[in-house]
Parts: sequence; C-alpha cells; structure tokens
Amino acid sequence: MAETDRERRVIDEVTKGLIIGGSVRDATEQKTFGVEDPSTGELLCDVADASPEDGMVALKAAHDAQPEWAATAPRERGEILRRAFELITERADDIALIMTLEMGKPLAESKAEITYAAEFFRWFSEEAVRISGEWKVNATGNGRVLVMRQPIGPCLLITPWNFPLAMGTRKIGPAIAAGCTMVIKPASLTPLTILKLADILAEAGLPDGVLNVVTTTSTGKVMGPLIADGRIRKLSFTGSTEVGQKLIEQSAQQVLKTSMELGGNAPFVVCADADVDEAVQGAMLAKMRNIGEACTAANRFYIHADVAEEFTKKLVDRMSDMKVGRGTEEGVEVGPLVEADQRDKVAELVDDAVQKGATVRTGGQIPSGAGYFYPPTVLSDVPTSARLAKEEIFGPVAPIFTFTEDDDAIRAANDTEFGLVSYLYTKDLSRAIRLSERLEAGMVGLNQGMVSNAGAPFGGVKQSGLGREGGTVGIDEYLEIKYVAMNV
Ligand code: NAP
Repeated sequence: MAETDRERRVIDEVTKGLIIGGSVRDATEQKTFGVEDPSTGELLCDVADASPEDGMVALKAAHDAQPEWAATAPRERGEILRRAFELITERADDIALIMTLEMGKPLAESKAEITYAAEFFRWFSEEAVRISGEWKVNATGNGRVLVMRQPIGPCLLITPWNFPLAMGTRKIGPAIAAGCTMVIKPASLTPLTILKLADILAEAGLPDGVLNVVTTTSTGKVMGPLIADGRIRKLSFTGSTEVGQKLIEQSAQQVLKTSMELGGNAPFVVCADADVDEAVQGAMLAKMRNIGEACTAANRFYIHADVAEEFTKKLVDRMSDMKVGRGTEEGVEVGPLVEADQRDKVAELVDDAVQKGATVRTGGQIPSGAGYFYPPTVLSDVPTSARLAKEEIFGPVAPIFTFTEDDDAIRAANDTEFGLVSYLYTKDLSRAIRLSERLEAGMVGLNQGMVSNAGAPFGGVKQSGLGREGGTVGIDEYLEIKYVAMNV
C-alpha cells in the first residue's frame, strides 16, 4: 500500500491498462493482477492482465504502424527521443518513487537508474540521424555495390524487474531510432515504470501504435503466439539464461533475429599490486548497486592472498555500516529484495556455503519483520564446492576466495558457463592488458566497479547472451542490411 499522499498520487497517475495503438484498454474480461511493494508485501495497485488475444491485438497495432513509422524522417525520430529524454529528466523524482515502490531499491539508486536509462534516449536520438550505408565500385570495375540499412520491422521486447526503466530504454531507444515499431512486455513484478514511460513517449510525440505495452501474468501463453507469428521480426530479451534459452528455441520457428541479455556470474579479481582502498570502493559498487540484483553484480571475489585479509576487513566495515530499510526512507542504502522467493534463494545459497565451511564475516541472517530484506553479507574461506561459486546470487552477498598465482585466478574466473562482465584490479599496466585479454567476458571493469554506459556496447559471451545494447553497434540490432548489386 502507498503510505503517503505523494506515494498515492504517483501510483494513481500511472496508466493501469494495456496501451495499444495509442489507446488504453482493459484486458479481456477486465482481468487484472496486483503489484506489490516488496518492503511491506502490501498491494500498491492492480494493472491489466493481458490474454493471448490481447497480445495479438497489440501485435496488429505494431504491424499496422510499421510502414509509416519506417518512413518517418530520422531527425523526427531523434527529436521524439530527445524530448522524451528531457521529460524523463524533469520527472525523475516521480519516476524514481514509482520504481522504488514497485521494485524496492532506495530512491537514490532509482534516480541513478533513471539518469542511466534516459541516457539511452539521448544517445539514440543522436544515432537516429547517423544510420549509414555503403557505396563502392565492384572489384571488377564494372558493377557497383550499394549497401543500405533498413528497419528490421516490428519488435517484441521483453524486460526484467531489476532495472525496470533502463532495460526498457536500452531497447526502445534504438528501436525508435531505427524506425521499428514494437510490443513491450515488462516484468509482471514491476510493470508500472514502463507504463509511466509509455505515457512520456506519447507526450514526446511518439505516434500511436509505435510502442504498445502488454502487461500480463500469463507470460508464456501471451508471448508464445507473438513469437510464432511471422509479423514480429525481432525479439530482444533481457532476463534469465533459462528463459532466454527457451525463447531462442521458440524464435527458431520464424528465424527471428534475437538479442539476448542473460544471466551473469561476474568474477572480481584483485591482484597483489592493486590499490586495496580503490578495490574495496569498486567492490561496493559492483556488489551493492541495485542491492546485488544486477546481472553485472560481482558474484565471486578472487583476492590475492597478500591483500585478502586487508580487503576483507575493509569490505566488512563498509558492508556492515550500510543502512537497511524501506527504499523511500532517508539515508537507506539497502532496500528489500524484490520478492520472498528471491530472498529465500539468497538465504539458501548462504546457508549452503556456511554448511560447507564458509565463515560469515557480517550479515547472513534474514531479519525479522515485514518485507523481503536480506542484510549485506560477507563470507570468507568459501570452498569452491559452494553453490554460490557457480550460481548467480542476485543479492547482497560477497563470497571471498583467495589465490596466489594469476593463472589460477583467471582459470577460476573463467570457470563458469556465463561471461557477461569481469572486474580486475591491478596497478601494473601490462598485467592489466594481459589478464583483460584472457578474461572470458563481454565486458571488463578495469580498476572500476561499474561498466554500464549508454555509449558503450553492453553484452555478454557464452551463456550470458547474444548481441550488444548501447554504443554505436546498439542500433544494428534493429536494422537489416540490404545489398543492391548494380549493373552500370
Ligand atoms: P526472468 O524470469 O527470465 O524474466 C525476465 C522477463 O521474461 C520477464 O518479463 C518475464 O515475465 C519474462 N518471461 C518469463 N518467462 C517467459 C516465457 N516463457 N516467455 C516469455 N517471457 C517470459 O528474469 P528476471 O528474474 O526478471 O530477471 C533476472 C535475470 O535477468 C537475471 O538472471 C539477470 O542476470 C538477468 N539480467 C540480465 C541483464 C543483461 O543485460 N545481461 C540485465 C538485467 C537482468 P514475468 O515477469 O511475467 O515472469
């Protein structure tokens, strides 16, 4: 339940229906589902719960709007994104409150996500007018080669709950810039932020039908027919590897172009020559951003034995000082996890490590009271057989392992089916380059605990995904290449 007048106002102002073809509609039989505040477990509001038929109506709206949208001037598409960037920035306080209420993270973190999310619109507003092609004389000197890049067509975008806005703008921004229409399905735990964003985009001038929002709890049943329908040409998904694998299989039917931003299991390697204070600072960011509920969260800390105790003590001091509470309260740095299942999974991983011999240096116990809280936790002496050495923790838990040889650290860091991001701390430039090259990851944080940046290509290797979001390549995911062989 919203607790203050302001909380009630921001929740009341969010559109609660399906947004299809520029109109707000009820779901079939007016079905709805509840959105909870994870800090209290209480209901915030209800939103439309789409049926498979509703999903198909949204797809038709996106398909119908595609030709006209593809023909819209790139400058106009860019200016809509730019206006939306400005509106998001102006309204950051209200959007942050909505995000905190439905997802749990502290307000300061919601605001930081909003800045990051809005940057994708600013970045792609600039990219919209830079979609280039190629023209060249054939090698034989006779013909000409013309290469053009065209919008791929209607897209299906599926987003997770952990970054409710940024995971949306990272897809919507390039799709709009490229001239694609879309159906977006936000996570059912956090639908309100994307519904708010859809209203902002309409206000910024996005034509009806370009962005259609489908909220549902019958997720597989509603998404399946859209993926199987030949009118969708692109599927962009951010979420777990398990669901991503299923979606890749389903996408094979129509040979869809897919972007998959999947799970992570990031290693955080600190060499003996690292600046330990900077490494601890980076570890706090890599571990505690988003309460550890981030695909980029440091999952395994490999610390050189010479500095392991110093690093651990300093990390324990910082982690045990963090204020835990409802994300709307002043000074709170750690909100609740998103739901009871998520909190219980984190507790299970910690208990498993402790049973196998890990030492709890701080945290490690579910607190009493309402909400899905878990305290910042540091574990040392963690055996490699512990489940959290292999599984994504998605919570505020830092397991520490030690090493003495760089080769052992790299082998351990790469010993996972995931490959999203790795963090590396060293002051030696040639070691930094050598080890960065050997880390099997789509991204490396070198002496820094955060890699997210709208202007850089974000994505993973191995089972962490396919494709890149952001940077100069982000728009390519929404463009198809056509080559015209010219006889001149
Ligand atoms: P999830 O369970 O895979 O859900 C992600 C989205 O997929 C939600 O919208 C969900 O809808 C939907 N979904 C679930 N089953 C589906 C199905 N059968 N067909 C179509 N859509 C389906 O993941 P999550 O728990 O929300 O997010 C956490 C995961 O996301 C973590 O593994 C994290 O690493 C990953 N992630 C990756 C990145 C990246 O960039 N690599 C970024 C953020 C998060 P419902 O909500 O209705 O179930």
